[in-house]
Amino acid sequence: MYHVIADAPAGAAFPELFVRPSDFAGQMSWLAAHGFHAVTLHRVYEYWLRGTPLPARPIVLTFDDGTLGQDTHALPVLRRLHWPGVLNLKVNALKSKYTMPPWRVREMLGAGWELDAHTITHPDLTHVGSAQLWHEVDGSRVELQQLFHVPVAFFCYPSGRYDQRVVAAVRRAGYLGATTTNYGLGRPADIYTLGRIRINGSDGIAGFARKLQDLSR
Ligand SMILES: [Zn+2]
Repeated sequence: MYHVIADAPAGAAFPELFVRPSDFAGQMSWLAAHGFHAVTLHRVYEYWLRGTPLPARPIVLTFDDGTLGQDTHALPVLRRLHWPGVLNLKVNALKSKYTMPPWRVREMLGAGWELDAHTITHPDLTHVGSAQLWHEVDGSRVELQQLFHVPVAFFCYPSGRYDQRVVAAVRRAGYLGATTTNYGLGRPADIYTLGRIRINGSDGIAGFARKLQDLSR
């Protein structure tokens, strides 16, 4: 789970959300050197559902919110490896050229990325009324599908916040699964509350490697 791929500006409120572009490139090289292959979440889902083959050591690389460096820094690195990313796009990020304008999303889709929903305004969904909950969960998917003509089959809970009511709305909207910020491997038993591995700005390449090696034990 990545957020911003960029150097953290001085005084950034959440510096751990920023991964330096050079660290990101080094982390991807580490994955490739250790036999990993990035795939979309949809491919993992197909494997879980009907055993459609996956490459050795499959890994899903998710990028939350829609921030500029995901296109300017992450996309070229992944393109060189012929790997897709998964963009969990907040619809409002489309409004600014400093976040993720539509042409940048199209560029990523053209490179094989998967587009998933991450609401419209990024609220804590456990604290919104039922009308807003539905608008954020279902409305975000409808908007992304209309704009980009891709499936938008998975959902990502803003700030990892969910409860039974939120999960029920995600299922009712027709998503095939959803990702959280719960630390750990994604498992088919948790298809609507999939775990992820948070990569922090301070991880560097050594910390990144340690997190993956701990999980592969
Ligand atoms: Zn987010």
